[in-house]
This record gives sequence, C-alpha cells and structure tokens, in this order.
Amino acid sequence: REKMKRRMESGDKWFSLEFFPPRTAEGAVNLISRFDRMGAGGPLFIDVTWHPAGDPGSDKETSSMVIASTAVNYCGLETILHMTCCHQSREEITGHLHKAKRLGLKNILALRGGATLESGDTNPSVVKALPPRRTVLGVGGEGTERLPGGRVRPSTVTSNPADPTGDGWEEEEGGFSYAVDLVKHIRSEFGDYFDVCVAGYPKGHPDAESFEADLKHLKEKVAAGADFIITQLFFEADTFFRFVKACSEIGITCPILPGIFPIQGYHSLRQLVKLSKLEVPQQIKDVIEPIKDNDAAIRNYGIEQALSLCQELLASGSVPGLHFYTLNREMATTEVLKRLGMWIEDPRRPLPWAISAHPKRRE
Ligand code: FAD
Repeated sequence: REKMKRRMESGDKWFSLEFFPPRTAEGAVNLISRFDRMGAGGPLFIDVTWHPAGDPGSDKETSSMVIASTAVNYCGLETILHMTCCHQSREEITGHLHKAKRLGLKNILALRGGATLESGDTNPSVVKALPPRRTVLGVGGEGTERLPGGRVRPSTVTSNPADPTGDGWEEEEGGFSYAVDLVKHIRSEFGDYFDVCVAGYPKGHPDAESFEADLKHLKEKVAAGADFIITQLFFEADTFFRFVKACSEIGITCPILPGIFPIQGYHSLRQLVKLSKLEVPQQIKDVIEPIKDNDAAIRNYGIEQALSLCQELLASGSVPGLHFYTLNREMATTEVLKRLGMWIEDPRRPLPWAISAHPKRRE
C-alpha cells in the first residue's frame, strides 16, 4: 500500500506479476529462478495464486504459502498471497493467516474462490476448478471428473437441487460465503497488519445478478477494508475505462490495477476464457483463428496485442500500474514491459542470498 502510494504520488508507472504455484519440486526451483530474473526488471510486487483443491494448507514445498514465502524471504520481492475462503472453516482460514504472518507475508488478495486456471502450459489438463460444496464431498465419485495430476472438475453441477442457478455455488451458513467475509475477518482478527487486495470484474462477475449488483458488492469489499483492486483480464481498453468510470460513480476510490494477459497460446486462451466465462472480441478471433497452429505467430500476436492495450491504458493517465498474468512464463511479459520502457534492470540489485541476509536492504 505504502509503496504503491509513493509511486502514485511520484507519477511513476509500475508493474506487477502474477504466478501460480507449480506442481513439482523441480517446477518450484524453476519458478524461484524466474522470480530472480523477473524480479530484476523491478516489479512493485509479485503475487502467488491459491489453489484450494491443492495444497495451500500443507507444508509441501510447492504450496502457495511456501512459494510466496520464498519470493519474499529469499528473492526479496514484495509478495501478495492469494487466499480463497469458500469451503473452509473460520479456524482453517485463521490458521492460514497466522501461518502467512509467521512466514513474513504482509499482503493478501482476498477471494471467494471458484473456477481458476492453472495456466502453465497449453495442455487443457491445466484447467482446474474448485468443485461446489457437494462435489467436494464426493471427490473422485459421481459429479467429478479426475484430471491429470489428481485435480478434479465438477461435471454435473446443474443437477444439484441446492444449486438452482447451476453455477455450482451454494452459500454457507455461518461460513465465508463471499470475499467480503474474508476481508472483514482479516480486518477484525489482524487489524492493519495485512494489506488487502480484492478482485474486480470489468465486465461483471459471471455469477452476478447484474453488472450493477457486482459493482455494489465490489464496493462492499472496499468498504470492509480492501486497499486496492486487481481486475480480471480483459482485451479492450474501453472495457477497463468503462469499469473505472462506473466504480468512481458509485464511490469506489481506491487504486484499480488492470489485469493484462498477453495471449501465449491458442489452447490456453480458449481454456482460460471458457473457465472465466469471458468473451474474446471478434477482431482478436479473426486474427488468431487462421494462425492457431502456429505457436510462434500466436505468441508474437499476443505481444503486439498486449503492448497496444498497455499503451492505450497508460496514455489515458487513468491506470496506476499494470498487472500481468504471466502464466509462469517470462518471454511475452518481459518483452511487452521492455517495449513500454518499464523494465528497469537494476545492476545494483543485491543477489538473493544478500537480501536474505540483510532484510533491511529489501526496501
Ligand atoms: P466475490 O467478491 O465474493 O464475488 C463472487 C460473486 O458473488 C459475484 O458475482 C458477486 O457479485 C457476488 N456477491 C458478492 N458479495 C455478495 C453478497 N453479499 N450477496 C450476494 N452476492 C454477492 N481463484 C482461486 O481459486 N485462486 C486464486 O488464486 C484466484 N486468483 C484470482 C485473482 C484475480 C485477480 C481474479 C480476478 C480472480 C481470481 N480467482 C482465483 C478467481 C475467483 O476466485 C473467482 O472469480 C470467484 O468466482 C470469485 O471470487 P471473488 O473474490 O471475486 O468473489
């Protein structure tokens, strides 16, 4: 929060980078060296996603918590840990938050949880969705589809009588039903210890009654104590501008970071938009459909498309910084940032071991 405020006051534009926890120890080693290389470009922060069907509560070396803790303590990066609250008890959530605090984490992206994409490669098996409550209880049984790597995907959510909308969502009595409950819980149990961020949806959340209702709920998250908002990815700058205007009209005044997704592959894009229930604009489809089997051409197009989106956002003067969904890959995001002139390689940046030995040098 403070770093962001300082950068906003100085008018400097900055960027941040999202990663997801890898599945294997080898993947964790690769990701940590990627943190070092991408950390050298000067992100304001990095963030690590949370995968509720996986291992965040465990001590596994690839858990969200361990990866985020390594980013902050070993790589010296300001780090936000994502945390979802659905299908977990108050005690479990409180335990996660205490553990995050013990591990030196000071920033939480508070989320309800739902479908997410673990998007490291173009294999459709990377898709993972949080099953609705009943399906969680029946993991491996009816209503779930087992994906490679032990993940599960609900397949019959519409047959759930307690879920008439068919969106796989049930409210929980006395539990954390929405992200706002997690924001309130963090503020009541931990005061101002954590900086808290929440998710915003420029086109409205897919389960929302309406765009307006979703904005109202976003405002509730901010009123409950969120410091800033990171948006879902979008493809056109106007989508973001309309969203920011609508937020401001209902009194949301905190910083809103646009989520930028450089397209890096045809299949990963398809999976991601399907799961996030996003619509790819026709002009983008028209370009990528004919080149869908040419990975290099898609990646080049993704860089150009993200670059021009970022340029338009920056030229408007209405974005505090740019938030990149990296898919744990370096090339596209780094290239876009270099071409924007925002990749500031700092030759004096101490090596990770030196940061770790001298915590004060992190500032
Ligand atoms: P909420 O803010 O709780 O909103 C969910 C829905 O409920 C919306 O339709 C909203 O309008 C509605 N709603 C909110 N409050 C109320 C209320 N009081 N009464 C009635 N309706 C209400 N998922 C993961 O599993 N792991 C991650 O790491 C992860 N990271 C993400 C990062 C970003 C930047 C974004 C945009 C999404 C991320 N997600 C992640 C996906 C997210 O969990 C899903 O989109 C989920 O469906 C909604 O989460 P939320 O926090 O936005 O929910």
